[in-house]
Amino acid sequence: MNKNNIIIYSWFKKNYIKLINIYNYFSFKNKNFIITYSCNLNIDLLIFKWIKWIFCLNKKKYNLCNKCFNCILFKKKIYLNYYYINDDNFNINYIKNIYKNLLSNINFNIYKIVYFSNFLFNNIYINNYLLKILEQYNINFFFIFSCLDNIIIPNTILSRLFFIKIKFPKEKKIFNLLINKKCIKKFNKNVILSFIRLNNNSLIDTYKWIKNNFYIKKYLIKLILNLNKLNINKIVKILNNNKLEVNLYILITIFLDFIKYKYNIKKYLYNLDIYFFLKKKKNFFDINKIYFILNKLIFCLSNIKKILNINKKILLYDLVNFLLINLNF
Ligand SMILES: [Zn+2]
Repeated sequence: MNKNNIIIYSWFKKNYIKLINIYNYFSFKNKNFIITYSCNLNIDLLIFKWIKWIFCLNKKKYNLCNKCFNCILFKKKIYLNYYYINDDNFNINYIKNIYKNLLSNINFNIYKIVYFSNFLFNNIYINNYLLKILEQYNINFFFIFSCLDNIIIPNTILSRLFFIKIKFPKEKKIFNLLINKKCIKKFNKNVILSFIRLNNNSLIDTYKWIKNNFYIKKYLIKLILNLNKLNINKIVKILNNNKLEVNLYILITIFLDFIKYKYNIKKYLYNLDIYFFLKKKKNFFDINKIYFILNKLIFCLSNIKKILNINKKILLYDLVNFLLINLNF
């Protein structure tokens, strides 16, 4: 096993043991859990391994027997008593059907686990239904939710779940893992660190972002610098690609960095790779204007996320017009 795998392995092992210890502690109580995390590091894999351990009929401390009925079924990818719910199959009817199945076939010797992966808790109707289920306590049903730690979970639901927080490796560890990857090696240290910060220390997301969005970021900086020299139609066209959300997110972090630079909190910059640019332009920007621009960018991004079928072109014309008036490097 190489050094990189050891870091991942030690993170995985530490958290796997933590989950098992928590489960054992609650062995005769309600077993409904909510697991939160700050970034994507294959949390589903960790939870799935934990669930397999829960199902194993002859587990030995932290290990599966690999021979029991449940272990064999899991190996064959037959999931009789395990339901996985994610974005792809998430809807109220599906959840209702699962619950009906749980109730129709109660066997007190068999556990049934429903895992809601990366759950958003953003639908009041579904939240109320889940609350109803969680209130009807049954020792054989387990409900496990995972979600990002910035998601707002209704207090009524939260109070019925045991809360577990999964911690992730620090920036330096993620950097050490990435620097040895073939396609990452060519980037300089500050570029890699910036992308780690933009992705909230997530190894998987950082890896994808460097590969897919490195040139987007370069282009956006160029765009900010030359905004007044370009035609509004051209700017809208540049921004209105299939990466509009990425564009806006990067722009927001760049303007946040302006504020951090101005207030001398450079240690926490997102985009370490634009330090030269911040330094060069520090006398050009007015802090109130930056707040104003940030407000507008955040408003655009949240509307795009919230409103389905929003007319992105109109939104962008408004945004670019606003930038042209307020941003003058
Ligand atoms: Zn087993």
